[in-house]
Amino acid sequence: MDQNLLNALCLQQLTLSKVQEPETVAVLTRGSERTDLVDAFLWAAQQLGASAFHLRLPPSQSTSGAWEVGDSGLSRNPRAVEALKGVDMVIDLAFLLFSKEQFEIQGAGTRILTTLEIPEVLGRLMPTPELRERVEFGVETLQAAQSLRVTSPAGTDVTYRLGAYPTLGEYGYTDEPGRWDYWPAAFVFTGAADDGVDGTIVLSPGDILLPWNTYVQTPVTFTIEAGFITDIRGDLDADLLSAYIKSFNDPRAYGMSHVGWGLDERANWHSLAPTNAGAGMESRSFYGNVMWSIGPNNELGGPNDTPCHFDIPMRGCSLFLDDKPIVVDGTIPIREMQPFAWR
Ligand code: FE
Repeated sequence: MDQNLLNALCLQQLTLSKVQEPETVAVLTRGSERTDLVDAFLWAAQQLGASAFHLRLPPSQSTSGAWEVGDSGLSRNPRAVEALKGVDMVIDLAFLLFSKEQFEIQGAGTRILTTLEIPEVLGRLMPTPELRERVEFGVETLQAAQSLRVTSPAGTDVTYRLGAYPTLGEYGYTDEPGRWDYWPAAFVFTGAADDGVDGTIVLSPGDILLPWNTYVQTPVTFTIEAGFITDIRGDLDADLLSAYIKSFNDPRAYGMSHVGWGLDERANWHSLAPTNAGAGMESRSFYGNVMWSIGPNNELGGPNDTPCHFDIPMRGCSLFLDDKPIVVDGTIPIREMQPFAWR
């Protein structure tokens, strides 16, 4: 993308995130990645009167090839952590999510915005205050619920017992001390009690497997008991999922992680492609998807910090909170969560 356009996008983002004089913004990267975005964020921060610097960590030393969450590259770098705790906003281009260091930095009052997406997706899904309002309504609705049930025509019928963990919303920018968000994003989620998920989830062709950035081709049936996956059945997709999860050699890799729904009508279900998917946030955000996930729940304050993590946005599902329909066959019947232009 043209650097001037990228600069303008980052200026729009940091304006939404209320960066201003006399704040300091740090841009965090690993290795030689995303230098165009670094330049754009440093420029934009200065335009708004803030101070800015770039903190570059060595590249990952992992040789597993798997996407392992929680290893941020900061764990052996306490002085780098101190530097980030001392600024007002960290632009995280290194992916700190699920790491102890991220919580420590947020705890110091530093807000964090993560992005790993390509510039075209950053521009097309630029956050808006409208989207924030709709996501925040979703958060209020979800955090008031005691139970969450998902059904689908393919045979999904699973219930999450809520109340143990907080509810979070992501809307793509962050202007509050200590708050984390991701650009772009538009969804709400929470987690069940550690032993609080039971039922069956059936993936249908077209449902999405992240971090693989692939579409399910053949149905996969998961049996879930007391918060853990106890059986995975189907053809090729089931074999691939089973083999991958098993390779972590960690019983907690079968845990049930967050669950929620997507709210961005501009995000495309069909835009996923290995070459342009970034971290797949467009897939997590498309309007009316129901996303469930496998693996860690430490993001919500739980004890499971396994590095094995799947996010799985599904199409055409229904989601009920305390038996009230919130998503119906992939559409959202509640006015406050619909786009303003549709009302
Ligand atoms: Fe996730």
